[in-house]
Amino acid sequence: MDWLNDDQRALRDMAETFARKEVEPVANRIDMEERTPDELVAKAAELGLYGLYTSEAYGGVGADLVSVCLVSEEIAKASPAFAGMLTVQMVLCPKTVEILGTEEQKQRILPRAVTGERLMAYSQSEPGGAANVAAHLTRAVPDADGTGWRLDGAKLFCTQGSAQTYLVMCKTRDRDGNEGYGCVIVEAEDAGFQVAPYEHKLGWRGTNTGPISFDNVHLASDDILGDLLSGGFSHRAANTANLLAHCAVSVGCAQGLFDKTLDYVKQRRLYGRDMSELQPVAYWLAESHAKIAACRALLYDTVRAFEAGAMAPAQSNVCKTFICETAFDVCVKLLQLWGGSGIMDSTGVNRYMRDARAQCVAEGASEIHYAIIANQLLHGQPTLVPSNIVKKA
Ligand SMILES: Cc1cc2nc3c(=O)[nH]c(=O)nc-3n(C[C@H](O)[C@H](O)[C@H](O)COP(=O)(O)OP(=O)(O)OC[C@H]3O[C@@H](n4cnc5c(N)ncnc54)[C@H](O)[C@@H]3O)c2cc1C
Repeated sequence: MDWLNDDQRALRDMAETFARKEVEPVANRIDMEERTPDELVAKAAELGLYGLYTSEAYGGVGADLVSVCLVSEEIAKASPAFAGMLTVQMVLCPKTVEILGTEEQKQRILPRAVTGERLMAYSQSEPGGAANVAAHLTRAVPDADGTGWRLDGAKLFCTQGSAQTYLVMCKTRDRDGNEGYGCVIVEAEDAGFQVAPYEHKLGWRGTNTGPISFDNVHLASDDILGDLLSGGFSHRAANTANLLAHCAVSVGCAQGLFDKTLDYVKQRRLYGRDMSELQPVAYWLAESHAKIAACRALLYDTVRAFEAGAMAPAQSNVCKTFICETAFDVCVKLLQLWGGSGIMDSTGVNRYMRDARAQCVAEGASEIHYAIIANQLLHGQPTLVPSNIVKKA
């Protein structure tokens, strides 16, 4: 990575120190107790991590996506679960607001999000399928008294289910009867809004990912983010940037387990000699190293193309499937080198494999991304959004 500039290097080094000193010591606790310590959230805020990708005009750092990925990778080496949660805060939510919001909405939401005062969540998935937007039932329709909209429905798998500001993708209808798919802002205090209790999960523990629901929640005009009928799918740059940061978490996840495994293999003796002298062990390490290097090269090549506005269609989907699945395969193999010790929770390494699996489903299951890549290859359309979702009355 000789091509990094001074700012990118400085942010990577800052994240490396933060990960080593603050995240690593609590990483097993986050996984075992399924709770992220408040002090860690506060320290991340202090360092400006929540505002890393937000413009300086709204209190953010205004860093580029390369820096965001470097930071995500470093933190994921210590705790992929915490890093995964961070990308939602750092990239997906604020960038969606920056793309869709009015100046007033940006001033209302972003300065308090970057300080961690009001954490954010992005909610699309529904029981009918996360990507299957046509089957979504959550709906915002005009109020009978003409003062705004009413939101009803239920969402699944909302990460940061204990956030304060929620960006909710939903079916929408305007006063003329036109229908579409919009993005609305719901605040945790809104009457009729509910968050279900913490749901236990395989990986990405420590951040609440669960159902949320809306029962006749009132939305004022300034709670509609972007165009009422198309805001739900017209912030693609935020989704793409987040997908790439998510891939950086997978690279960091595999690298974190690799580093720990290399140390373990170097000190472990078997049959009276060093474990590293067993040829398959040395080959597996070499193979894992090569695969992680290939994933990292693909990631940063794509991120730089994205920033230059020259990314090939569906390239972020290629990254998502290849990097997340490869990182999982690498983690499975590396964990095997730990024998029984890798199965025991006390060594704190099997969480990497579990987090790597969660990475393959969060931000869209691999098959959804294969479907998008195939759509691009066969029909020149890198999307699964049905063309009839916006309906004129
Ligand atoms: C840890 C975690 C955090 C998450 N955080 C959020 C969040 O913050 N906000 C949010 O909105 N969602 C979130 N999700 C939801 C996530 O995006 C979905 O789980 C994922 O997109 C898969 O959708 P689904 O669960 O509805 O699976 P389904 O749509 O029921 O699909 C089931 C399986 O069918 C296959 N499949 C689905 N669609 C296709 C297709 N088009 N072509 C071929 N095969 C297909 C895949 O194998 C898929 O795994 C999170 C999920 C996890 C695990």
